[in-house]
Amino acid sequence: MTNLEWFERARAVIPGGVDSPVRSFSSVGGVPYTVVSGSGAYVTDVEGTRYLDFVQSYGASLLGHAHPSVVEAIREAAHAGTTFGAPTPGEVRLAEMLVARVRGLEQVRFVSSGTEAAMSAVRLARGATGRNRVVKFDGCYHGHSDGLLVAGGSGVAQLGLPGSAGVTAGAVADTVVAPYNAVPRLDESVAAVIVEPVAANMNLVAPAAGFLAGLRAECDRVGALLIYDEVITGFRLGVGGAQAYYGVAPDLWCFGKVIGGGLPVGAFGGSAELLGYLAPNGPVYQAGTLSGNPLAMAAGARVLELVGADDYAGLATRVEHFAAHLEQAIGASGLVARVPRVGPLAGLFLSREEFAAPTNFAEARALAENGLYAPFFHAMLRRGVALAPGAYEILFVGLAHGEPELDLALEAAAGAAAEVAATLA
Ligand SMILES: *Cc1c(COP(=O)(O)O)cnc(C)c1O
Repeated sequence: MTNLEWFERARAVIPGGVDSPVRSFSSVGGVPYTVVSGSGAYVTDVEGTRYLDFVQSYGASLLGHAHPSVVEAIREAAHAGTTFGAPTPGEVRLAEMLVARVRGLEQVRFVSSGTEAAMSAVRLARGATGRNRVVKFDGCYHGHSDGLLVAGGSGVAQLGLPGSAGVTAGAVADTVVAPYNAVPRLDESVAAVIVEPVAANMNLVAPAAGFLAGLRAECDRVGALLIYDEVITGFRLGVGGAQAYYGVAPDLWCFGKVIGGGLPVGAFGGSAELLGYLAPNGPVYQAGTLSGNPLAMAAGARVLELVGADDYAGLATRVEHFAAHLEQAIGASGLVARVPRVGPLAGLFLSREEFAAPTNFAEARALAENGLYAPFFHAMLRRGVALAPGAYEILFVGLAHGEPELDLALEAAAGAAAEVAATLA
């Protein structure tokens, strides 16, 4: 069966044929490839076509697909039973690993997705402070819980939705949206400020110098809590996350993606004092049948065991070279590319004219909507390189992308850019 046949079959029984909207290709057009397997930096679709993959499950995969050691950890865990509804050693071990790596993180609770992590962190912040309002930033994505589904990046932005139908005005009445990279003035009604310390759902927008420190100071001034949503940056930016990278600590952290080693997971945490507000010790309720799932714990722990500071440093160096060469490769066509990078994180913005790297969602959106990404995406795909099917996602370069893979991507990018530029001329 072809990709088209699978997609048609999917559309009959799954809305839009997908379980997460970005996967549908609706923002780039065409038919999505249906994946049957992945290995390292590559995925293979139902037609047998192999792609060099820069999606990597939107960042869940740091070591590449089906890493043998991670697969082995999952296999061992599965043999011992997949879920019990009782405490297991695996969740304790992974919690200890997170706490050991992130300074100030004393306790974490595991959930099954980044959405749950952010939703629960906000509930905890409200419960602990006795305040209602939450400040989020335009273009930052914190999952699809009602209260945070306003002015989100990623798929929400791609579909051009301000938020979502089905989210009541009441549900977002206490959510205040501010532009990224400008420290908002807070008052004592604010329970928490939630931020992606490096914005990675409006393509990549780095925090301006002083932004995170400014948020920290403003939160302290009014007694609000600062929440880092590190669902992408956690254990991808480096061992200690954004705090280690920027030297500014939040009160609460959200994790997901990398810490599940490719299985469904999320976690939120902070000081033991704050986490003491959670049930069963405190009044803030939060729970999950599959929370701390043994398979996810085993996979996540194996990834963290395998990845050390040297790996992040090496990856950041590789990404730095790749980014510079990618700008050149695309630039040779007459198009202009900006590949903003923060450590191992890299983005991609295209334009017909010179431009500065965006600093907020309005600037990112103007570039994302200029019509260049979709043809470039398809020109890359035809050359066997899979970028994310949307201009608001970043390039997920991971530890499975070696020099040969990055060289291949550069060659494809030069050809793809030339092809796109020729159609504009
Ligand atoms: C992906 C993401 C989420 C949501 O995580 P899910 O596992 O998709 O629910 C939340 N915050 C950020 C920053 C993310 O990138």
